Amino acid sequence: MRSPEDELLELEQQSLRRALRWVGSEQSREILLDGKSVVNFASNDYLGLASHPEIIAAMKNALDVWGAGSGASRLITGSMTPHKNLEKYIAQLKGCEAALSFSTGYAASVATLSGLMRKGDTVILDKLAHASLIDGAKLSGATIRVFPHNGLAKLERLLESSVRESGRVLVVTESVFSMDGDVALLEEIISLKKKYGAMLLVDEAHGLGIHGDRGLGLIEHYGCAEDVDIHMGTLGKSAGVAGGYIAGSQAIIDLVVNRGRAFIYSTAPPPAQAVAARKALEILTSSEGEKRREKLWSNIRKLTSMLTVVREIKPTSAIIPWRVGDGEADEALQISNRLLEFGIFVPAIRYPTVPRGTARLRITVTASHTEGDLAQLAEVLISSEVR
Ligand code: PMP
Repeated sequence: MRSPEDELLELEQQSLRRALRWVGSEQSREILLDGKSVVNFASNDYLGLASHPEIIAAMKNALDVWGAGSGASRLITGSMTPHKNLEKYIAQLKGCEAALSFSTGYAASVATLSGLMRKGDTVILDKLAHASLIDGAKLSGATIRVFPHNGLAKLERLLESSVRESGRVLVVTESVFSMDGDVALLEEIISLKKKYGAMLLVDEAHGLGIHGDRGLGLIEHYGCAEDVDIHMGTLGKSAGVAGGYIAGSQAIIDLVVNRGRAFIYSTAPPPAQAVAARKALEILTSSEGEKRREKLWSNIRKLTSMLTVVREIKPTSAIIPWRVGDGEADEALQISNRLLEFGIFVPAIRYPTVPRGTARLRITVTASHTEGDLAQLAEVLISSEVR
């Protein structure tokens, strides 16, 4: 029998063994990583809201009013006024009938896909869709079909065959792809899903706070909210708190409440989390949020233009993938470690988070970075490239 130790050794030999690193400070531009102060290019707190004083104050106050925990799952006694207020607000922002919140974005994906879809249905996923979406699809028992990343021709063929044979058909994509930073061909996907009468779920985990006039995401940017059946996202990235949500029709929300096991059989998130997330969304969509978004985009453009010396990178989101050598895990680790020597933290992303042979550095730019941070990162990356 293969022991856990054997398996760990195998991972080690392939440079795929991971270990937790400890952060001894709050999440911000600079963090204490394993005791060393480094500039943080690894956070999804794109707008710097994780340390926003008003959000922290709202959370503290909510602890006094509502206590620490929610006591039970949502269908027992854990459905509290802060959860309702958050959900009403999300539904209103997204222009949907209803919304539902979850402890994490991961739980939102799993509960929604497994709650809405079942054997006899088909889930059609972009190849680069997040692990939580894949896991939800697997758990549902539905047939899973995959189209190449943004591959519209294959998506159309899959839609054509699925709608003939299958019960419900759901197309699933991210708006901004978490490890590549590029965006979905949303308008084209929407016209296909309409042509074949399928449903569409869009995960805005990395689009919220980044795209759209009010920062609501890529769907807002394209003005296509009505054509998206399930708006999904997380509250732990640009919203700076924690949690996940979906928004859609009342029937979709009610079905997930009735059938989403990750929702039904799990204690509700702390009410203070819901209060803080709502506050974060208020700030994210306000003029202050807009200013932070402008600063973020200015930083994204500055970094990509500094890097043009060695690579042409389209500034499409706050995520900049930096492929190294042949995409082998050890090469990405080496550059990540070299950056650490300069006090810059950019994580190496390896299989299974990305396909084998495509290991990379995943740079996340935030509104909090200074021009000096960006210049220093660019300098080390450029020098590694030309060495
Ligand atoms: N969807 C995508 C695209 C993500 O990147 C993530 C987080 N890695 C999730 C869902 C899950 O969200 P959370 O971290 O809130 O569980």
